[in-house]
Amino acid sequence: MSLDPFESVMWGAKLPDFKGSPSIWAKAKAFVDLGLVEYMGNSQFVVHPKQGYNVTDYCVRYSKGLGLTCTCQGFVTKLRKFTRGELDRDEVTCSHVRAVKIFAGNLQHEKKLEREKKAGVVFANA
Ligand SMILES: [Zn+2]
Repeated sequence: MSLDPFESVMWGAKLPDFKGSPSIWAKAKAFVDLGLVEYMGNSQFVVHPKQGYNVTDYCVRYSKGLGLTCTCQGFVTKLRKFTRGELDRDEVTCSHVRAVKIFAGNLQHEKKLEREKKAGVVFANA
């Protein structure tokens, strides 16, 4: 898997803070566990639907100005409220954006392990 400009932006940054209740993160993690999050390149992700929920793919993309945004109804509505000053940017999120954050965190972790392996890091208890 090769990563592009997104890598230097997101992967270089510290991991996102996982704010909110554990249950909403568990919902988002299910997307990742089921393999429904895909990195398309160009700072763009697709989150495929869970079976039995709906049939729509949602696109999550990263931009420097807005951070991660999603095409789903819930996110778009919240983003509109944010532009009207009714919500903080922190509050503008959805399960797809959360899933991408988890996915990105996992990739970051995998890359770290890869680097350590290449560097010949040996764990005492391995
Ligand atoms: Zn969404």
